[in-house]
Amino acid sequence: MSRTKETETIYSRGNENLDLKPLCIRIANRLGIEPLDIRFEDLYDDSRVYIKENYVAINKKYENDYEECAKSIAHEYRHVFQIFYVNLFSNERSIRWKKELQSVINNSNMDSNGSNYIAQEIELDAFAFTKYHLEKYENMKVVNKIGKLDFYIQEYINESKNIL
Ligand SMILES: [Zn+2]
Repeated sequence: MSRTKETETIYSRGNENLDLKPLCIRIANRLGIEPLDIRFEDLYDDSRVYIKENYVAINKKYENDYEECAKSIAHEYRHVFQIFYVNLFSNERSIRWKKELQSVINNSNMDSNGSNYIAQEIELDAFAFTKYHLEKYENMKVVNKIGKLDFYIQEYINESKNIL
């Protein structure tokens, strides 16, 4: 048996043990959305959401990493919530989000688009929801490694508790 084959066997076994379904349902329930399917793909990003195809793709390298999967699911599900939000409500926040969402939805995906990525409110909101939800309800510690992101996330959480 080749080395590659051995690795594949270990991978598929590990993947069967990683049951993400209950987590998906818990996060979806909290957001009031239907749980989207999860698929593992070769991606440049950590994850992305395919709105029309109705699934979340997570980078294959996280196939056996429960915490990274949880972060991806919370982040991408939150983008789905944002779409519902702008369609349901008409307020200052929904107007701002709608503008930001239009440009990403038109590309039929939601991944990063360069340096102004984190400056977008919808991204900050998705990061903040992820930290807030996973730490409060899933007993995880979420630390980001991008610059001052954690500082801005905490600030956003403090200001936006009513929507998280
Ligand atoms: Zn995002």
